[in-house]
Amino acid sequence: MPELPEVETVRRSLSEILLKRKIQSVIINYSKIISNQTENEFMEKVKGQTFHKIDRKGKYLIFYLDDYILLSHLRMEGKYFYIQDMCLSEEERTKHDHVIFIFEGAELRYHDTRKFGRMYLYPIVEDIYHIPPLSSLGFEPFDESCTVSYLKEKVKQRRSPIKTILLDQSIIAGLGNIYADEVLFMCHLHPLELTSTLSDEDFQNIIFSSILVLNKAISLGGTTIRSFESSYHITGRFQNELKVHEQKVCPVCKNTIQKIVVGGRGTYYCPTCQKLKS
Ligand SMILES: [Zn+2]
Repeated sequence: MPELPEVETVRRSLSEILLKRKIQSVIINYSKIISNQTENEFMEKVKGQTFHKIDRKGKYLIFYLDDYILLSHLRMEGKYFYIQDMCLSEEERTKHDHVIFIFEGAELRYHDTRKFGRMYLYPIVEDIYHIPPLSSLGFEPFDESCTVSYLKEKVKQRRSPIKTILLDQSIIAGLGNIYADEVLFMCHLHPLELTSTLSDEDFQNIIFSSILVLNKAISLGGTTIRSFESSYHITGRFQNELKVHEQKVCPVCKNTIQKIVVGGRGTYYCPTCQKLKS
């Protein structure tokens, strides 16, 4: 599943090729991908619009058009492919290309084998972060507002393991399963540790480690695990940097990495380096 670094990699690669491109028409092959508009409304509204900027919040891509913002969440397997001039005739569309934006001499295909990805189209407003689903997202670790007191306030009513908390996008936006395991390893925290037992220092470590892990992953183009590829077939290299996720031996103490299930997600940790506090 693409996480923040992978989505950021997609954002950067699409920003290099998509800006100033005007949409001539759109083909929708699977209408459920479009969440808050009918197929016809969507096609009618984006026709003639130009891409001006691509942002990201958490795992959402935010495309700025003339009059609208288009939000895109890739979920499990969503990918964008940009096909140009010469390749257009050779690169045939597949049954997994569900939304196709057509430009002059090029097209952008949203490809999704699992069909879980979603797009939302809204008129541009001043504060787009009040628009759902962006309004439900917490701060990214990079955000100055993501502080120890913010995290403590967010978790004070919760009795969930820290791993579950880190995956909750309404608390911290952008950490997914892979990076949450890496952050907890870096902080010496057991994935099942309850947030009520965490000190201020632990929360601070979580914020710092999240920034470190995500920045490193972004600089390496994300992690290529199973079928993730960013657009343009760029593959990430962060998988070579993983310390615990899907690993066998702890790089610090050389003991065996354990795999457990927390909140339904396969979770990797070192039982020696990440002991429960109580
Ligand atoms: Zn260890």
